[in-house]
Amino acid sequence: MPPRAKHPGAQGFLPPETTLPELRAAADGCRGCDLWEPATQTVFGAGPADAPLLLVGEQPGDVEDVEGEPFVGPAGRVLAQALHESGLDATPRYVTNAVKHFSFTRQGKRRLHQTPKAAEVSACRPWLVAEYAALRPQLTVCLGSTAVRSVLGTDVKVLRDRGAVLERDSALGPGAFLVTVHPSSILRAPDDLRAEARAAFVADLRVAAQFLG
Ligand code: SF4
Repeated sequence: MPPRAKHPGAQGFLPPETTLPELRAAADGCRGCDLWEPATQTVFGAGPADAPLLLVGEQPGDVEDVEGEPFVGPAGRVLAQALHESGLDATPRYVTNAVKHFSFTRQGKRRLHQTPKAAEVSACRPWLVAEYAALRPQLTVCLGSTAVRSVLGTDVKVLRDRGAVLERDSALGPGAFLVTVHPSSILRAPDDLRAEARAAFVADLRVAAQFLG
């Protein structure tokens, strides 16, 4: 028997019907890469199916892994506040991640975030493609470099291309995209630079608000 592929990918776990509830249910059983095993559960996207705004982060964090919902930890609070300040509070949104299981290393009792490997991002992309197809959002905001690489490839750079709407093709299909930093980068910023980093993040999201009208 040939050896089992380390990252067979999520494609074989997708259901024939691809509504968001069916995708979410099927993703619970995904074994498309090794990240499922140490994690608590799949953290699928959340939000209404007719949301005009799709937000894509990197992966669930420690809190999200336990609660099973995206962006409910500290980075989620930064994001919620920035959405409020940018005028996107009332805009229905669907939030998800490029990778649906928490990637971490253990240090004693603590679980430390580990950036997912390119092979894991690639293995998980079919879920994101399916979410995008089900949603057909007017604008997709990629939060941080992992989301940007998964959706737009390596020729788009967060710091160079942030805060502008890019209308182009992508790994998810054609559409309008905006790239910015991941909200966790604001939490990690040095004290004297944090306010500036927050303001730049809000300014990027204001461009999204203007685009969506
Ligand atoms: S990270 Fe993605 S591809 Fe890997 S097991 Fe989880 S849902 Fe499947």
